[in-house]
Amino acid sequence: MSEEEDQELVEPEELLCKACGSAEIQRRPRLGYFLVIAAVAIGVGFLGDHTETAFFIVAAAAIFSMISDRWLCTECGSSWK
Ligand SMILES: [Zn+2]
Repeated sequence: MSEEEDQELVEPEELLCKACGSAEIQRRPRLGYFLVIAAVAIGVGFLGDHTETAFFIVAAAAIFSMISDRWLCTECGSSWK
């Protein structure tokens, strides 16, 4: 695991797992997931001539990326916003 260099500066007290109190948490790269899903969907849609399906997949990925949890505890696997 490599440290992210663009981490936001946040008070340590706010970066504790709500479930186990661990400070070993990380921010989920939601935008990264979305870009990967969107790229795959667009690629599949383009190659398979299913652009409408690809559009819906991208839209669903965008919604999912917005509602998915933001923080993930590396100790117990708990996630929260
Ligand atoms: Zn935890």
